[in-house]
Amino acid sequence: MKLPIVALCGRPNVGKSTLFNRLTRSRAALVHDLPGMTRDRSYGRVTCLDEAGDPTEVFELVDTGGLDFDGADVITMGITRIAEAAMQEAHVLVLMVDAHDGWNPDDAEIAGRIRVQGKPSILVINKIDGVRGGSPDSAFYELGFDEVHILSSAHGDGVPELLASIQAHLPFHRSPEEAEIHDPGDELRFAVIGRPNVGKSSLVNKFLGYERSLVSDVAGTTRDTVDTVFQVEERIYRLIDTAGIRRKGKTNEGAEKLSILKAKQAMARADVSLLLVDAVEGVTHQDAVIAGYAQDAGAAVIILVNKWDLVEKDTFTSLAMEDRIRQDLGFLQHSPMMFVSALTGQRVSKVFTLIHEVADAHARRIPTGKLNTFLREAVSNFPPAAVEGLKPKLYFMTQVGVRPPSFVIKTNTDREMHFSYQRYLENRLREQFGFVGTPIRLAFRKRG
Ligand code: GDP
Ligand code: GDP
Repeated sequence: MKLPIVALCGRPNVGKSTLFNRLTRSRAALVHDLPGMTRDRSYGRVTCLDEAGDPTEVFELVDTGGLDFDGADVITMGITRIAEAAMQEAHVLVLMVDAHDGWNPDDAEIAGRIRVQGKPSILVINKIDGVRGGSPDSAFYELGFDEVHILSSAHGDGVPELLASIQAHLPFHRSPEEAEIHDPGDELRFAVIGRPNVGKSSLVNKFLGYERSLVSDVAGTTRDTVDTVFQVEERIYRLIDTAGIRRKGKTNEGAEKLSILKAKQAMARADVSLLLVDAVEGVTHQDAVIAGYAQDAGAAVIILVNKWDLVEKDTFTSLAMEDRIRQDLGFLQHSPMMFVSALTGQRVSKVFTLIHEVADAHARRIPTGKLNTFLREAVSNFPPAAVEGLKPKLYFMTQVGVRPPSFVIKTNTDREMHFSYQRYLENRLREQFGFVGTPIRLAFRKRG
């Protein structure tokens, strides 16, 4: 299987091969020749545990410093043309610098070469164990990376966080079994999910503008899940359709279970999922179960209340109904809600604008500087309460991933931050940065 590639860059002696060996566990057999190359590259496959706890290969790591340098190729900063080729084929670029030596002009030179690639890039400040006081040279932050990891390759501190962050940048990090090399920029993937008969097929037909499948009241209509790729103006969409889950011979209950499974699979592949709820029947237990899965999976969701044409309305209907639906769903409080009719087409065209808003929020990156200003303000407005005599201190905040946006805050304690304080920070983050429709992950780690 073809895996995404992560290139490890940096001048000699910063610790690239030490990290490479740690991540790949240095299985020599994995270092191989690449066909067509006259020299070796150090390639290693990095294995992580998947959701079921099974080891899965998630990406290929290239140590650009592990190249067999040909004297003529070596340029001052220690990058060769081959290293540049490795950077070009990589999906994620990691620049390693040496905290013990401090800032070096070659670091800036290599950072420049990484920047022009326009790819997700991460700065790793290595050898922090060798720095008195534990704070790296602040000049490193001026290299212009949004994401910075401070670690010790030799001792392993900080390496799991780096790995999580690399994974978050991989083009298909959310489900290795769906692995296919996919340029994240080229299409927006959205799924239509919900229990049988809420109107999924009808909505899909409205989107696509033709009767592409039989929509019928007859329980037992059979159709397989298919993706449809289509274009609206300049944008390409991939529609992951989960309708057609009503198989002949299945009981109602079986069909409902199957629709939950299909919804889970679709959410794992989609950038944004449209959860359809029936305006007449309201939220069922099954809808709430799907909402819970969406929350757990970190999926971005828009709630569409369908069959709005069947509801007798007065001025307060939609507000009252929105309240009740949110209460019954339990999760997805951050998801926007829209009242539509797949039958009449009411508001259906507006769904696309929302899909874009939510997809952007799901993939949004907030620069480290802004996050730390945010953290300082949030804490000074409302400091966390002392727990058993210890006052929690929140030092530093970084974003370690997207889809969903995930943040780590360094603290002075191993204790879990109180739930209400986590909620406070999440609400402030949403106010300030507008993460509509996406869950947010916040983790607290004791400063090492
Ligand atoms: P590379 O040439 O960039 O691949 O660097 P190496 O991995 O060969 O490391 C260069 C030197 O730095 C070796 O002596 C390593 O043992 C040392 N080194 C690597 N990582 C660390 C670290 O996290 N802390 C300390 N103190 N030394 C390190
Ligand atoms: P699916 O099982 O979720 O794919 O649902 P279908 O699209 O097959 O729709 C189930 C039934 O609901 C069909 O009879 C549709 O005509 C009807 N339906 C779907 N959307 C609407 C709507 O917005 N308004 C009304 N009145 N009926 C709808």
